[in-house]
Amino acid sequence: MSESFLHFLWKWKRFDSSNLRTTLGLPLDILSPGEWNRHSGPDFFNARIRMDGALWAGNVELHVQASEWDAHGHGNDPAYDNVLLHVVYEEDIPVISASGKRIPCLELKGKIPPRLIHQYRQLEQQRAGIPCGKFWGEVPDEMRHGWLKQILAERLEQKSGTIVRLLEETRHHQDEAFYRLLARNFGLQVNAEPFDMLARSVPVVIPARLRSNLLQIEALFFGQAGLLERHFEEEYPLLLRREYALLRHKFGLSPMNASQWKFMRMRPSGFPTVRIARFAALLQKNPFPLSDLLAARNLAEMEAILTVEPGDYWKTRYDFGKESAVPGTRRTGHDFIHTIILNTLVPFMYTLGKLKGETGLTGRAFELLAEIPPEQNRITRFWHEMGERTASAAQTQALIHLKKYWCEVRNCLECEIGKYCLG
Ligand code: SF4
Repeated sequence: MSESFLHFLWKWKRFDSSNLRTTLGLPLDILSPGEWNRHSGPDFFNARIRMDGALWAGNVELHVQASEWDAHGHGNDPAYDNVLLHVVYEEDIPVISASGKRIPCLELKGKIPPRLIHQYRQLEQQRAGIPCGKFWGEVPDEMRHGWLKQILAERLEQKSGTIVRLLEETRHHQDEAFYRLLARNFGLQVNAEPFDMLARSVPVVIPARLRSNLLQIEALFFGQAGLLERHFEEEYPLLLRREYALLRHKFGLSPMNASQWKFMRMRPSGFPTVRIARFAALLQKNPFPLSDLLAARNLAEMEAILTVEPGDYWKTRYDFGKESAVPGTRRTGHDFIHTIILNTLVPFMYTLGKLKGETGLTGRAFELLAEIPPEQNRITRFWHEMGERTASAAQTQALIHLKKYWCEVRNCLECEIGKYCLG
């Protein structure tokens, strides 16, 4: 038995509520359980009950054992003075309020359907996979799809919070905010932080001013990244270093510490040097791609905007002085572009739509997710093994969010799937 299970039982009235009485024998009717309070203070606000024939409205506190009232220090806390009902699994001791009155108590022991307790224990005790793993295949498609739609909306809302903060930081300079988010996502998970620092150290107007010269943009980014402070034999990095010295002086820049970049356990194509070279090429092609991306009519047009080839040096290298085993054009791959669209453009589009009240834009963000192929990663493979077949990134994004923010924190009692599993 856990307190969160009691919250669930109380919120959804999932116990035998016929002929209820308080532990002192007063007849009790629950008219409304109230609103669940997730912050400090009593667990439910504005509940309405009828007790001994009189109507009451106020707060309700829940505990597994009544003695937890004192153990949690509520006895001396004025925020709990107006609790009108204490709901417990077991009243091991009577509870007295700070003003000396006995608080009416409802004991749920013996009133919870045994099957519900059994199902709950199965969810709670499941350790491998996800708590509802055993039941997942039995959940009706309609319910699962409906819930995943809600989860997808929650994911976009969560990402939107980051973009709103970026817009505030940049005083609503959309191109600067988009550029920072784009940089962060160019670093993927491993180098997201140093890429973020890099973009913050070089406002987008600087690469925009250097647009006619890819070498200067590369010098700017590699120099700022601190990656030109090594020993070089080749002429190209020496040239970048000389160029960066001029740019550093001209724009008053200070380079980052190169130790922040992570190269270990990465495939050469994911090296930050390769990604910085691509980022520089994208900025040269279009330093302000947001408006073009928003105006693009379909996914193919967006892909074309984001597809770049890095400078010649990077077609045969993955780091300074290190030749690739398989040289090639190094054009940005589709998977990477889709990741950028998913994590940068879609949430940006959704946020702008919300801020401007343009439902066409928010709707387009969802449509775009449905056009992008499903992602392949550790979490999507997990769901595949669970039997989930996905056709688009809208589904994989929802499943990723569900696993990370619901299943892994065992938020099953608030999840529609969890409620279904409990019968
Ligand atoms: S949060 Fe929902 S989907 Fe995830 S394990 Fe719990 S019941 Fe299942």
